[in-house]
Amino acid sequence: MNITAEFDTIAAISTASGEGAISIVRLSGDQALDISQKVFKSNKNLSDVPSHTIHYGHVEDPKNKRIIDEVMVSVMREPRTFTREDVVEINCHGGIVVTNQVLQLLLREGARLAEPGEFTKRAFLNGRVDLSQAEAVMDVIRAKTDKAMSIAIKQLDGNLSKLIKSLRQEILLTLAQVEVNIDYPEYDDVEELTSKLLLEKATLVKQDIKKLLQTAKQGKILREGLSTAIIGRPNVGKSSLLNYLLQEDKAIVTDIAGTTRDVIEEFVNVRGVPLKLVDTAGIRETEDIVEKIGVERSRKALAEADLILLVLNQNEGLTQADKDLLTATEGMKRIILLNKTDLDKNLDVSELTELTNDQVLSISVQNTEGLDALEQGIADMFYEGGSAEKDATYVSNNRHIALLEQAELALSEVINGIEADMPVDLVQIDMTRAWDYLGEVIGDSVQDELITQLFSQFCLGK
Ligand code: GDP
Ligand code: ZN
Repeated sequence: MNITAEFDTIAAISTASGEGAISIVRLSGDQALDISQKVFKSNKNLSDVPSHTIHYGHVEDPKNKRIIDEVMVSVMREPRTFTREDVVEINCHGGIVVTNQVLQLLLREGARLAEPGEFTKRAFLNGRVDLSQAEAVMDVIRAKTDKAMSIAIKQLDGNLSKLIKSLRQEILLTLAQVEVNIDYPEYDDVEELTSKLLLEKATLVKQDIKKLLQTAKQGKILREGLSTAIIGRPNVGKSSLLNYLLQEDKAIVTDIAGTTRDVIEEFVNVRGVPLKLVDTAGIRETEDIVEKIGVERSRKALAEADLILLVLNQNEGLTQADKDLLTATEGMKRIILLNKTDLDKNLDVSELTELTNDQVLSISVQNTEGLDALEQGIADMFYEGGSAEKDATYVSNNRHIALLEQAELALSEVINGIEADMPVDLVQIDMTRAWDYLGEVIGDSVQDELITQLFSQFCLGK
């Protein structure tokens, strides 16, 4: 790979902005210790202290001797660091304004402000992590539930990389064997043996890729959220349900730098499944709109939803608007909610079951009844089919999914080629392509531009 890394010393605030008692300014590079020492006042010299130790002192502006903050400074010398360079972490106590002053001081004394993702990029360029692991760092930062986080951490541990590497190894050994066979054509039926070997191995590897791709849907949802629309005609209880779901302990705060979005969406954690509630603005806005507009609006929100929560008011009979919504969402994943069970029942359930076989749950948002069952229903729907294996390796990243699909396709071509009696050297080409695609997942054959683009998606300071 011909990437010219710039090994100057970079610095950034590496804790989330906003609250939090301690924030960390991180430096990485040859000059990390020297630059820190220029602003660090204590009875120690950072250049002399042992690696992986932490030191109490103050940050002082060397120009005017003004004390800026009381700090703890961690010193980690290369190579046992995240970037494989010298790393210094200054733990500041004085809040974000003070932390910023510390950073500015370091920049004045010779550090350069890190680009987004640059620490992780260095870890990658210095061989500390592979590309899929680097991407996992980003996922950890953005993880919306514990479950999503644990997948990302496993990927960071290298689960996906290990699997990909072993598949590549399998292909490589096969190709090597094919070469050997071709070099010794004096043996009888060597051509047939070679074809058989290629067919067998391509089939095996393809199966493994297929299995991995089957985790993609769940993995993607865990990563991006299960896009969910709450729909129903006015006054059935949509806003009430939304507010219940958004109550404090469930709402996931998404405060990620650099991800401003136009669409109003909010995340809630339902038994480990991140629900991305779409069009929450539409649900929240004033209710004295014509029924028709309400329905229209709902239609739009549901077009992009993975899951529909269709709310009906069981205190009233089914209306035409209810039926329209039932029709409009037919065939989508949905749960039908009969709300207001605390009131009299006027909805004819048999009329409803004539229209749908989907899951129907009775709830009362007001009395918080049936809502546990609703959450369970959502979780079951998500884990349907594939059990939520604890140690499963998920692919959740679009880039990985696309590459795996291409590798799978190349292997299909190997299989088709052999079945069509194509010459081995042509089949070999497809096998090699599969190997290349898998390599791209872990960053073995990606172009510079892609790398720069990937890392620029990271948060600053990571
Ligand atoms: P939306 O128009 O679908 O968003 O409905 P809202 O959530 O604004 O609720 C309309 C009215 O129904 C409000 O007065 C709510 O307090 C009430 N409501 C919501 N859920 C229940 C429930 O489970 N039982 C009863 N009795 N009233 C409810
Ligand atoms: Zn409402």
